[in-house]
Amino acid sequence: MSPDHRRHFFDHYEEAREAFRKAAGRAGAVVSGRAIAARGRRGGELTIDTAYLGPGEPDRVLAVSSGIHGVEGFAGSAIQHQLLTEQLSGLDLPPDTGLLLVHAINPYGFSELRRVNENNVDLNRNFLRHPEDHPESPDYAELFQAINPEEIDPASEESSRKTLFAFAEAHGFPRLQAALTAGQYRWPEGVQFGGIRDEDSNRLLREIAREETRGASSVAWIDFHTGLGESGNYVLISDRPPDDPAYQRGRRWFGDAVESTLSGDSVSAVLNGTLEGGLLDGLPEGVELTTFGAEFGTHEPFRVFWAMRQDNWLEHHGDPDTPLGRTIKQEIVEVFRPNDPVWMNRVLEGGARILEQARNGLTGSARNRATDA
Ligand SMILES: [Zn+2]
Repeated sequence: MSPDHRRHFFDHYEEAREAFRKAAGRAGAVVSGRAIAARGRRGGELTIDTAYLGPGEPDRVLAVSSGIHGVEGFAGSAIQHQLLTEQLSGLDLPPDTGLLLVHAINPYGFSELRRVNENNVDLNRNFLRHPEDHPESPDYAELFQAINPEEIDPASEESSRKTLFAFAEAHGFPRLQAALTAGQYRWPEGVQFGGIRDEDSNRLLREIAREETRGASSVAWIDFHTGLGESGNYVLISDRPPDDPAYQRGRRWFGDAVESTLSGDSVSAVLNGTLEGGLLDGLPEGVELTTFGAEFGTHEPFRVFWAMRQDNWLEHHGDPDTPLGRTIKQEIVEVFRPNDPVWMNRVLEGGARILEQARNGLTGSARNRATDA
């Protein structure tokens, strides 16, 4: 059966959350919601919701999370909804394996159509020790005005574009990408701010990892994203070097779709403070963790970056309730959830395949361990 995006992609965080809770309840999952302190602009409560299916004391857990980057959450949420409503019986998890779904790690950004959270923080750059691990960002400092302009009239936009292209020409595109996306810790109103303390979602995510995996010895964690790579295709991104055992497991489970940010040919730059650090911090020592960020491509990288940058301008200098404001919001949704049924169906197909492969890898690797012993 081919997927039907209309059943799983929703237009708003609130609808997606209701659908998640309902589908999880129907599937017999233990469902709980943890609220962050911030409220949405319409005053509603914002929650990270979890659903757990499986034994009280699992040996292995397959965890699937969505929305650490807010507006990117539509795709991950759709994959989770498809899993709960159509894929569960096919997945046929063994009795010692639990399934944990974490919906909307960044509920504020999901609800307000931003990639960052209520404090302008990119949560996937926030999982490090504050401030000891904050790196310097000399390239970002050099490009600051072009990344974070106060005006976005056509003339100043053209001049920003020239500055960024000239930097890429002088130092190569990867170094520009690193400057723009690796995460910075000095300018709270700037693009790609990683925060200066543990954000609410960071704290809650570590709590979820600790409490909801219930002492499992092996955890596979897939965190869904959009916006990097070829449109409709996916890659599975690891922060581990290619010779790391967790990365090697990923190669066996997912094949060529696996990339390391450290190998130099990934669609992603090397990033600071990503989710993996938070999971390692939350899970008990000795747990075998296999975690990947699953990235579905949407539009070309510069367009995606430009949309994030204009959304940041809108937040700090503009007015969302103007024609320009509405155009910027429409564009940021388009670059992270293209309004295209073909793309949505490819996300659902790819997402289902990734989860099936993760299931096979996780349960197979545990069997191998038992045989080795
Ligand atoms: Zn992302």
